[in-house]
Amino acid sequence: MLAEVLAKLEAGGHRAAAVPVGRLEELREHYEDLSRRGQLDECIARELLEGLSLRPPEAVPRPRSLIVVATRDPVVCCTFRWQGGEVSIPVPPTYLHLRRKSEEVARAVADLLPRPYLAASLINAPHKLLAVRSGLARYGRNNISYISGFGSFYGLTTVCTELPCDEGAWLVPSMMPRCEGCTLCVSACPTGAIPEDRFLLRAELCITNWNEKPGEVPFPEWLARDWHDCLVGCLHCQLACPENEAVLDYQEPGPSFTEDETEALLRAGRPGDLPHRLKEKLENWDLQVWLGVLPRNLAVHLPGADRRPPG
Ligand code: SF4
Ligand code: SF4
Repeated sequence: MLAEVLAKLEAGGHRAAAVPVGRLEELREHYEDLSRRGQLDECIARELLEGLSLRPPEAVPRPRSLIVVATRDPVVCCTFRWQGGEVSIPVPPTYLHLRRKSEEVARAVADLLPRPYLAASLINAPHKLLAVRSGLARYGRNNISYISGFGSFYGLTTVCTELPCDEGAWLVPSMMPRCEGCTLCVSACPTGAIPEDRFLLRAELCITNWNEKPGEVPFPEWLARDWHDCLVGCLHCQLACPENEAVLDYQEPGPSFTEDETEALLRAGRPGDLPHRLKEKLENWDLQVWLGVLPRNLAVHLPGADRRPPG
């Protein structure tokens, strides 16, 4: 039954794999173990574990399986009018429409299940680790996960279902064979976050780790302004990776903001403080989720801009 569901998802353009639901708890141990061995910064491990869903959702009373589904996702380029010109700033895959896309995938999976089996998405599951351990994806040296044909331009959804799943691959995380002898991402990373001598990222040096932090946390002084290449997240290492060669053109235009709207975003605090049209534009692109980090993150891309005091 499960094999049929996976085959239908693949026929619909997704990639998918399944593991028994009990694997979820093992993932908590994985992060705790990395932290104990000093391979993951203690603070980052704590933040990770606090934000993750490691229990099946209540909407699935007899949870048996986790289906992890990969869906292609483009780089989206946002445009900001600034000082009479235009500044285009990319947003990497997975940052926009995350919740909406997850719900769509969860609905698609639920529609494929025979009655009376139930399914619901697990929004904050450790999707990437699940994808890697289930054999759906492989890690690159940059700790980004890749799927053959999709590169790293895809989003992941984890759906918990009542379909039985007695087995399934459960691999030890390892690097893609292509990474052997390749250090293109190491050279492309401006902060030195990708070590050559070990597999785990120096997360405390990764730009993504900094620009996803709450907006009131300032960027550290060592993080040069021109190292930022995205509105949130970072693409330097993904764009340098040969595994992404075939998908580099997978980019779509995103929202455009007028000069007044750009000014408003630089001082944005709460959604209620924004003009109605701007609020609607952010909601259409699911950018409102990132509103808290926008003043800090946007200011580094706009010459002469600093985050504005709330007005
Ligand atoms: S750039 Fe090279 S080493 Fe880095 S993830 Fe891609 S293939 Fe691996
Ligand atoms: S996401 Fe950016 S900062 Fe992080 S490892 Fe890749 S290139 Fe370096």
